[in-house]
Amino acid sequence: MAVPDVPGLLDLDAPVVGLGRSVNGAPIVAERIGEPGGRPVVVIGVIHGDEDDGLAIVDELRDNPVPDGVELWLVESMNPDGQAAQLRENANGVDLNRNFPYRWGPIGVPGDPQYAGTGPASEPETQAIVNFIGQLRPEIVIWYHQDLFIISPAEGREGRVRARYAELTNWPMGGITGGTYTGVAATWARNELAPDDGVAFIVELGPTLSPEEAERHANAVRTVGVEG
Ligand SMILES: [Zn+2]
Repeated sequence: MAVPDVPGLLDLDAPVVGLGRSVNGAPIVAERIGEPGGRPVVVIGVIHGDEDDGLAIVDELRDNPVPDGVELWLVESMNPDGQAAQLRENANGVDLNRNFPYRWGPIGVPGDPQYAGTGPASEPETQAIVNFIGQLRPEIVIWYHQDLFIISPAEGREGRVRARYAELTNWPMGGITGGTYTGVAATWARNELAPDDGVAFIVELGPTLSPEEAERHANAVRTVGVEG
């Protein structure tokens, strides 16, 4: 597997695809499991480096069979540097969840919890994911965060998928408020995938995630992947 330094055309027929590298040079990788040509579903375990309980869900998904008709793509972490340092931001001090190139706006200075970077998709981690999702065109994308213990409601097909996920996991639904939400990853993905009626949302896990909960979330991913 070659990991490109600069995002380019990806070989999406490969089972493991290098998407790009972090600021410190760590590979950002997507693993494909399940049926090639099935409904593409992307799961991103970590975007904020200190919110990494989603890794347990990625492990559950990797270690268990994928239902027929689903092509599951697992990105363990799109912020390996932040994860290694157990910091929210990447190695440039940027909140990657404010750096996506849709409705981007300047926020803060380096090191601020929501620093948005020097411009839309200024960070290599963001570029790697934008390139990947833009080429794969998944039907469902899920990002895991902590620790608000919530799934936000939404309208239309996306609202239905989110509500189903909440029902399957017994996770509460409610609005997330109080921040400045420009350059958000799921908002970018929703806009990018809108022509294909793609669904993108975040799941806020709690402060901790038990093995039983990780299994429940993995089951929910598989089920919404089948149901679409
Ligand atoms: Zn977060």
